[in-house]
This record gives sequence, structure tokens and C-alpha cells, in this order.
Amino acid sequence: AKAEGSSTFNFFAPEIEAALQVRRKLEADLRRGIELEQFELYFQPLVSLSTRRVVSGEALIRWHHPERGMISPGEFIPLAEETGLINALGEWALRRALGQARDWPSGVRVSVNLSPVQFREPGLPELIKRVLEETGFPSNRLDLEITESVLLQNNITNLDALHRLRALGLRIALDDFGTGYSSLSYLQRFPFDKLKIDQSFVRDLESRPESVAIIQSITNLARNLKMATTAEGVETLAQVDIVTAAGCTEAQGYYFNRPMPEADFRALIGKENRE
Ligand code: C2E
Ligand code: CA
Ligand code: CA
Ligand code: CA
Repeated sequence: AKAEGSSTFNFFAPEIEAALQVRRKLEADLRRGIELEQFELYFQPLVSLSTRRVVSGEALIRWHHPERGMISPGEFIPLAEETGLINALGEWALRRALGQARDWPSGVRVSVNLSPVQFREPGLPELIKRVLEETGFPSNRLDLEITESVLLQNNITNLDALHRLRALGLRIALDDFGTGYSSLSYLQRFPFDKLKIDQSFVRDLESRPESVAIIQSITNLARNLKMATTAEGVETLAQVDIVTAAGCTEAQGYYFNRPMPEADFRALIGKENRE
């Protein structure tokens, strides 16, 4: 309704109030959702570009909201991070991922995303150690994916946390590589096991020669530093061919598979393992 002569304040206030209400509702729902375990992990294959077999499954969280149906992480992870709820949610996701992946063929790893907020918790390495013990999952089949923002404060504490995680026997992948700021200095300070090349570079490979050059440079750098590379968001055969020629180790994307329920992922890798 048009409120004649109303001030800017009066015009905007109800909208802001409405937005706040939506947010408060989502936060309450999220809290309740965690208690009631309304979440599910989907898994997306990471495919070796040399053997074309599935080498890992990345756990991607989904929320079965009682009123809204399935919600993607982009909609609730940021709120979970702002409210600290990501710590409980992240612990649930880790425990669930390891519990499910324990039954996969031993050649298939599992990749779990870690929020920068979780990373800042001093007890994180201990927590991960405990979940590994409780689930009986072998740490050498776990990849933790962290983003560069974790390293933004390029300080001793963060490096120490990375070393303590690595000491558990797991591997650490740098997610969304190329989208952050001082990527190269991080690589000098901490030896990641893998770089995941952000999908923004893969998306326009066919139209922009610069992106091909960027991917080639990243893979060369990674190879020299003894790191593997995953090309993210690969959607076409042409992109597969380009990232293969550029020397990427693995690829992930809709061209191969979309993220899928664990039962489907398990069927897929089971079938491959019988071939
Ligand atoms: P991410 O870790 O970079 O995950 C890759 C995202 O790209 C996923 O979106 C995946 O579904 C999507 N994707 C994969 N292949 C393609 C493709 O070929 N084309 C396109 N357009 N997209 C593709 P999703 O599942 O919506 O997850 C979004 C983000 O949410 C993830 O980005 C990650 O940052 C976060 N996330 C998901 N699960 C968790 C979790 O358990 N914990 C934390 N902390 N973050 C999570
Ligand atoms: Ca990821
Ligand atoms: Ca990514
Ligand atoms: Ca991302």
C-alpha cells in the first residue's frame, strides 16, 4: 500500500523489520533443525583425469526444511556461521560423512568442507581426532577442504592449527583457489595437499584464452610444489579436455555427476569397483 507523504524511515522500516523477522525465523528453524537432524549429506564424485574413476566424494550438506522443502547450503551456511551454529552443524556433517564413507571401497576418499568459523575454534584438531576415533574412519582417507579466508590472518596460530590437523594423518585441500587474495604467499607458508581451482575459471574456458592460461599456470605451480589439483564446476566435454591437457589431476562437476544422495553415490562407486 502507498503511504502518502510517509518519510523514508517509515517507508523502509517495515521492510527491514520483515527481513529481520525472516532471519530470526530461519535462525530458530536452523537451531531446531540441528536438534532434529533435518539435514542430509549429498556426495559429488571427484574423478581422476588419468583413470576416469571416482577417487573421492565431496560431502555437500542439504536441509530438508519442514515447510520449505530442500534448501541448499548457500542459503543457510552464512547464517549458521554468523550465529555460531556452524560448529554444531559442521560436527554433525563430519561425523555423518565419516560414518557413511567408512563403508565405501577403500580406494575412495571422502572430502569434507570446513568453515573458517570452525577453523577458529582452538579445540578443532581434538574434535576431529575424536570423531575419527568414534567412527573408526582411517584418517588417511579424509580430505578437509578449507578456503583461503581461513588464512587471511596469516599468523602462527592458523599455521599451527593446519599443522596439527595434518598431524592427524589427513590431507588438506585449499578450496575455491584463485578467488582469494594473497594465494601465493599462503602456498609458500603451508604445504597444502591439493588446490581446488574455482569454478569461475572453468566456466569460461571455452570463450576466454586467459582462463586456459590461468589454469595451466596453477597446475604447473601445484605440480612444482607437489600438490594435486581439482578442476571444479566442469560441465562440458570441451572443459574436460582443456583441464586434462592443462595437467589437472582430478575434476568435479555436472559433466560427470551432480551431487547425489549417499545411496546413489555408494551404488556408483560399487558398480565401478566391480568393473
Ligand atoms: P563448494 O565447497 O565450492 O562446493 C561446490 C559447489 O558447486 C556445490 O554447491 C556443488 O553442488 C556445486 N557444483 C558442483 N559441480 C558444479 C557444476 O558443474 N556447475 C555448477 N554450477 N555448480 C557445481 P552446493 O552443494 O550448493 O554448496 C555450496 C557451498 O556450500 C559449498 O561450495 C561450500 O562452500 C558450502 N557447503 C556445502 N556443504 C557444506 C558443509 O558441510 N560445511 C560447510 N562449512 N560448508 C558447506
Ligand atoms: Ca568444497
Ligand atoms: Ca569450491
Ligand atoms: Ca564455493
